[in-house]
Amino acid sequence: MKKIAILGSTGSIGTQSIDVALKHNYKVTALTAHSNAKLLEEQARLLNPEKVALFDEKGASDLRTALADTDIKVLGGEDGIIECAAETEADTVINSVVGMAGLRPTLAVINSGKTLALANKESLVAGGQLVMDAAKKNNVAILPVDSEHSAIFQCLEGKPSNKALKKIILTASGGPFFGKTKEEMQNMKAADALKHPNWSMGAKITIDSATMFNKGLELIEAVWLFGVTPDMIDIVVHRESIVHSMVEYDDNSVIAQLGLPDMRIPIQYALTYPERYESPTGELNFAKLGKLTFFEPDYETFRCIDICRNSILQGGLMPSAVNSANEEVNRLFREGKIGFNEIPDLILKGAAAAPVKSVFTVDDVYETDRVVRECVISSI
Ligand code: NDP
Ligand code: MG
Repeated sequence: MKKIAILGSTGSIGTQSIDVALKHNYKVTALTAHSNAKLLEEQARLLNPEKVALFDEKGASDLRTALADTDIKVLGGEDGIIECAAETEADTVINSVVGMAGLRPTLAVINSGKTLALANKESLVAGGQLVMDAAKKNNVAILPVDSEHSAIFQCLEGKPSNKALKKIILTASGGPFFGKTKEEMQNMKAADALKHPNWSMGAKITIDSATMFNKGLELIEAVWLFGVTPDMIDIVVHRESIVHSMVEYDDNSVIAQLGLPDMRIPIQYALTYPERYESPTGELNFAKLGKLTFFEPDYETFRCIDICRNSILQGGLMPSAVNSANEEVNRLFREGKIGFNEIPDLILKGAAAAPVKSVFTVDDVYETDRVVRECVISSI
């Protein structure tokens, strides 16, 4: 029986990962969340893992009392999450924590020698070199959960460094504000941005999708996962979210992966690779779809894509800095404290506070995070 652990189990990807685990009778050995003790308790009672962890220490203490009638070990804080990541009887650990807070857990999974099914793209953006070096050193596979990267991985037939690869074509839904001008977006509120046309996701990534910062993160994610340079990645807006991404080879042959926009497909593939099992999702019906459309992104209106692209070209701590700045700015927008059109400049302002270092440690990334967030807050 395959054993898995799920970090961020109470979120959008986490709950869908549980669906997949239940469908295939996987044993779930550990679960973690930030503060949603109620759902974590329900999940723990359903799946009977060895251990669970809640980042929030007070919540963890209440959960320990609530689960006192079980054998489940209840841990608290970041250390508890790290213990669930590293010291559990799992073959694969899914990291579906949101934000750069997922970096230490990502490294803990890799350093413990377990396969990492990675949804938490921010850890790869913030600590790309550190994560890839650790994976190489420990001979650990990182299997992408992000739908575009799962698509690319499938198109590359599981060979990340395919020599004949010419280009990656990353598809983007364009988000809820596709086709809008800056003036039209001026008064957009979080509630407008949270209406995503195709995907139902956590709040942070849905806002990132509205600004298209998400596509910038995914560009950096692809650079690290597939060992390509940023100029080898094209982005194309594909409103229907049916083609999840493509690769173009030296002979100009293009291979695409298609499917309904349902994250359980890439989650499942990261767990069953290299095999394919029956999926809980529906089939594609091409005649019903009728047509698929593709557009050039509007880089001038959606500036966050180039902010990310420039950060990876600059290298060092810059991708980490723009990621942290975005996390803070994203939160401020969701809380109604800044306007939609203020987002790109505020990200740039925050990221500029980051130390300049080409070689860095995990602690440097967390220190950059602290400095950048402070700068964003003092700038509004
Ligand atoms: P959600 O906000 O729905 O869930 C986040 C999960 O992480 C929750 O379990 C949350 O716990 C936990 N969490 C939040 N903050 C922390 C923290 N500081 N430390 C530890 N755990 C924490 O996010 P999503 O599921 O949407 O996204 C998760 C990741 O997957 C992100 O990196 C996102 O970019 C990526 N992704 C998501 C997709 C989607 O369809 N949703 C698609 C592709 C990638 P609690 O519930 O207690 O707050
Ligand atoms: Mg994606």
